[in-house]
Amino acid sequence: LSHIIDISPLISSRMAVWPGDKAYTRTPALSIDAGDNIDLSAIHTTVHLGAHTDAPSHYLGGGEGIAARDLERYMGPAQVICVSTQQGARIQPEDLPVKVVAERVLFRTDSYPDPECFNEDFCSLSVALVHALAQSGVVLVGIDTPSIDPFSSETLPAHAAVATHDMGILEGIVLAHVADGLYDLVALPLRLEGADASPVRAVLVER
Ligand SMILES: [Zn+2]
Repeated sequence: LSHIIDISPLISSRMAVWPGDKAYTRTPALSIDAGDNIDLSAIHTTVHLGAHTDAPSHYLGGGEGIAARDLERYMGPAQVICVSTQQGARIQPEDLPVKVVAERVLFRTDSYPDPECFNEDFCSLSVALVHALAQSGVVLVGIDTPSIDPFSSETLPAHAAVATHDMGILEGIVLAHVADGLYDLVALPLRLEGADASPVRAVLVER
């Protein structure tokens, strides 16, 4: 039996979203407790909720929407790498303590510890790192923070670098309980027509 490690934060109305973005709400329409025959509810929220994957259309004019993405990026061998950079820093290629050996790399920075409390000084990726990873054949980058660019960035250079290589992006994952090493990642986006991102249930399967 394979062991599944959940790397998705719990989605609730308490979950923090990017300042100004739409927080999660779930509204019951029918309720068994209230005498209805079923429970039925609707949700309203940003598509960049919790563990999510960005579509190119989020950061690139005319870029692919999430429903058009090739799913192979979001499933397969993945390497978890813990990096100890300063709070708020962009991770540089020389910060990696190990060699990259998988096509997907998930960075554990521990710089965004509480999904229910938005902190702005989280770590992110450098452009040099994105290019170096692409050179080694990486097709997806993931991080345990709300963005691969710093909070204050408006030009989003790491997103732009990812776009030049057509890589996948996984943001908002939780890696605090995950040891460095090799796993199989499953983090499939919903097939949301035209959407600029999708929440995912991100898991690692132990080998
Ligand atoms: Zn993003």
